[in-house]
Amino acid sequence: MEKDVVIESFTLDHTRVIAPYVRLIDTQKGEKGDIVSNFDIRLTQPNEMFIPTAGMHTLEHLLALTLRPRIKGYLDCSPFGCRTGFHLLTFNEHSSHEVALALKEALEEIVEMKWEDVPGTKEKECGNYRDHSLFCAQEYARLVLSKGISEDPYVRKIV
Ligand SMILES: [Zn+2]
Repeated sequence: MEKDVVIESFTLDHTRVIAPYVRLIDTQKGEKGDIVSNFDIRLTQPNEMFIPTAGMHTLEHLLALTLRPRIKGYLDCSPFGCRTGFHLLTFNEHSSHEVALALKEALEEIVEMKWEDVPGTKEKECGNYRDHSLFCAQEYARLVLSKGISEDPYVRKIV
């Protein structure tokens, strides 16, 4: 086993960041030259507030629907275990500004949605279909929008 595994996310000083923000974690180049970018999409302030599981789960389903078409080369948007945000993976390079704007638009769409608009909520389609809350997802989406999304994790540069 590799001894010196450095996980960038664990080197980030979580007491210094100011959520909500979008932060480029890193970009990686594959053997064939394809570039994959990894973003920290932080919705709530670390160690001060987190999103309840059902709301996080519904947000995950809704971001798959609303963020994907807004970012070229979108690969995946998955929840952090700490429930303060998401990892966004994309092909190619994107600026934090571009991603923050796309996230803002996606959340604005989410706060207007109805339960019928949430994708993948049937037993056949989801691994825990009973654990969803559109109410919670929208409450936190509204909170994020009211605070504004910064393209910088340390200084408020709201898009
Ligand atoms: Zn699910």
